[in-house]
Amino acid sequence: MKSHDESPQAFAELGIGLPLLRALRKVKFTEPSDIQAAMIPAALTGKDIMGQARTGTGKTAAFALPALQQIGDTTEFQAICLCPTRELAVQVAAEVRRLAEFTEVRCFPVYGGQRITTQLHLMGKRHQFLVGTPGRVLDLLRRRAISFEHIKVAILDEVDRMLDIGFRDDIKAILSHIKGKHQTIFVSATIDDEIKRLAKNYMTDPLDVNVSKDEISVDKIDQNYCTVERVDKYRLLSMLLKAEKPKLAIVFCNTKHAVRKLAKKLHRDGIEAKEIHGDLVQQKREKVMDRFRKHHIQVLIATDLAARGIDVSAITHIINYDIPQDIQVYVHRIGRTGRMGAIGKAITFVTREEGDQLTEVEKLINRQIPELIVEGFVETARPEEVKHDPTPSHGRLKESVFGSTDADSAPKRTLGSKFRPLRRRRRV
Ligand code: ADP
Ligand code: MG
Repeated sequence: MKSHDESPQAFAELGIGLPLLRALRKVKFTEPSDIQAAMIPAALTGKDIMGQARTGTGKTAAFALPALQQIGDTTEFQAICLCPTRELAVQVAAEVRRLAEFTEVRCFPVYGGQRITTQLHLMGKRHQFLVGTPGRVLDLLRRRAISFEHIKVAILDEVDRMLDIGFRDDIKAILSHIKGKHQTIFVSATIDDEIKRLAKNYMTDPLDVNVSKDEISVDKIDQNYCTVERVDKYRLLSMLLKAEKPKLAIVFCNTKHAVRKLAKKLHRDGIEAKEIHGDLVQQKREKVMDRFRKHHIQVLIATDLAARGIDVSAITHIINYDIPQDIQVYVHRIGRTGRMGAIGKAITFVTREEGDQLTEVEKLINRQIPELIVEGFVETARPEEVKHDPTPSHGRLKESVFGSTDADSAPKRTLGSKFRPLRRRRRV
C-alpha cells in the first residue's frame, strides 16, 4: 500500500529514515538505482565499502544517504568526502545539501582558489559534513581550522583518481588524521586491482559492491571514432559541429594550451563556445560551469578537469578532440553524457599514430568502436606518403582483439581508402 505522503517506499525499505525520505520525495528520487540498492543497507551497518558502478548511476546519493543517516543530528564535524576537482566538490556538496534539507546537518564545500577565511566564515562553528579537494582539506587540517576528532564517515569519490600518484600522498596524510573508529566508503566507475589493493590499506574488511558487471562503459552511449590527422582536427570539428548541431556538448583536449587555442579559433570563426581549465581564475571557472549547467553555453571546451563526476543534465555530445592519454579517462569523459539512462553520443578523434590507444580503449570497454565518416570531410593530402607503402589507418587491425577483420584483404590505395581504416562506417 502506498503511504499517504508518498514517501519513496523503496528507499524506506533500504533503511532510510524520515527526514531523508522527505528530501528524496522533494528531489523526486522514487526508485533507488542499482548501486544505491546495493550500498545503502550495507553502509547503514557501518561497514567499509568499495562501490563500483557506471558513470551517472547515482553514486553520490549511494554514499551521501547512509552517511547523513548515520551522523544524524550531531553538532560535530563527522563526515568528510574528498573529490579530485573543485567543480566536483561543489557539485557533491550541493547534492548532499539537497538530501540533508530536513536534517540538522550542514554541509560545505572547501576547495582552493577561494579565500580560506571566507570559507571558514561560511562554515562557522557548525559544520557536520565537508566535501573538499585534498589540498584545501590538508591546509585546513594543518592550520587546525578543522579537526577530524569526531569523524565517523570518510568518503573518497572517484577513488582511483584520488589514489593515483598525483593525490596519493595528500590522501595518506589526510586519512592519517582520523584517529577514531570510522567507516570508509570509496566509489568510482573504474577501480582496478591495484587501486583496490591500495585502497584496502585504509579499510577494514571492506565489502566489495560492484554493479557495473564488467560493462564499464554506458551502453546507451553511441560511440564512434574519426580518423584524422592533427592538422585537420579543427576543420573536422567545425564540420562535425555543423553536422551534428549538438544541443549541449563537451569537447575534451589533453592540455590547457590546446583548450585555449581551440576556444580562440572557434571564437574567431563565430562559433559560440567557452573554455574551462585549471589556468582560469576560480571565479571564472565557477561562472563557466554555472552557465553550462543552466544550458546557457552549448559547447564547453575542457581539460580533464571536467572529465570526472560532473553531472550536467542533457549533455548530448562528448567529443574527444584528443584521445585521452590515460585510457580509464575515456570512460569518465564519455560518462558525462548518457546519465541516468539518457542517450548520448561520444566521438573520438584518432590520428594514425594513436591506433594503439584506440585499441586499448576498445579492450577496456570490451567492444569495438565503429568509425564515423563525416560527409564532405577530406583529409589534407600528405603527398610524401602516397608514394610509400602506406600502413593501413591505425595499423592496428591485425591485432584487433575482436577476432577477424578484413585487414588482410589489401586496402585499395586510393587516397580516400588509404586514409581510412577498414572498419564499420557510418555517415552523418
Ligand atoms: P555518478 O556519481 O554515479 O556518476 P551522480 O551521483 O552524479 O552519478 O548522479 C547522476 C544523476 O542522477 C544526478 O543528477 C542525481 O541527482 C540523479 N539521481 C541519483 N539517484 C537518483 C534516483 N534514485 N532517482 C533519480 N535520480 C537520481
Ligand atoms: Mg560521481
